[in-house]
Amino acid sequence: MTIAFIGLGIMGSPMAANLVKAGYDVVGYDVSAERVAELEARGGKGAAGVAEAVADADVVITMLPDSPQVEEVAPVVVAHGASGLIYLDMSTIRPDTSRWVAREAAAKGVRALDAPVSGGERGAVDGTLSIMVGGDPEDFAAARPVLGALGTTIVHVGPPGAGQTVKAANQLVVGGIYGLVAEAIVLLEASGVDPVAGLDVLAGGLAGSRILDIKRHTMIKREFAPGFRIDLHHKDMGIAVAAAREAGVALPLTAQVAQLVAAARAQGHGSLDHSALLKVVERFNG
Ligand code: NAD
Repeated sequence: MTIAFIGLGIMGSPMAANLVKAGYDVVGYDVSAERVAELEARGGKGAAGVAEAVADADVVITMLPDSPQVEEVAPVVVAHGASGLIYLDMSTIRPDTSRWVAREAAAKGVRALDAPVSGGERGAVDGTLSIMVGGDPEDFAAARPVLGALGTTIVHVGPPGAGQTVKAANQLVVGGIYGLVAEAIVLLEASGVDPVAGLDVLAGGLAGSRILDIKRHTMIKREFAPGFRIDLHHKDMGIAVAAAREAGVALPLTAQVAQLVAAARAQGHGSLDHSALLKVVERFNG
């Protein structure tokens, strides 16, 4: 089976490599020639463009930064892909863009699914991503073996766009927890309480979370190497706020977290890890 992989960045590159390891023929394309060369070195084949990459593919995967890139690439996939092709867009984008892709694809007999991921670069490298999939259940079943080479938690969550809505929910929860852990650290330190001891207790109680487990020590030490960049989380909070507006619901805490992330970016921290929300809370407090 031949898989075309478009977008070989931080996430796409190790994901494509895992597909090669799983025995698939992988043809890759990225606007960066360096990224294509990296795939070739890992046993894949390079293509000169999207049309060439998808021409003989049974499955196409895109892993692109944001909606505008998917809006540019998806029509080329649909125009040059074979009828019956499975097209998995694994980028984090707006749910309405995913629904548009699904409609355009269906009109040409292409089976499109939105399949954003959670688990970061580590999860992409280890093949342990969580994958939330929107689209037709039969198409999901057909795509399941390929997704199995990329992740361990793979769930069909609803119709086209539903995967992106779940990812938006994931990102607003993650952003909110980072903001509150940052406030807890500031409170503990300002009160003369050792934050290491304090957060150790929180991590073992009802306030426990994966973020406290994995990130509390680096946050207390003010180590903010990414990880997941503030810039990308800013994009995702925009998606969450837009999805809420489209659904006709008010999410006041989400709106506030979106502003904290925007402040982190405005203060010049866009390329730091999203745990750098702590810097914004510290700045509020002099
Ligand atoms: P990235 O910027 O490292 O990779 C994107 C790649 O797409 C780049 O190599 C870029 O050159 C390429 N690209 C851009 N436009 C293109 C085009 N028109 N044609 C072909 N290639 C093109 O980003 P990433 O961190 O790999 O993230 C990709 C997606 O996954 C984003 O939507 C992000 O929000 C999401 N995501 C990232 C993480 C993470 O921890 N990095 C975790 C979960 C989800």
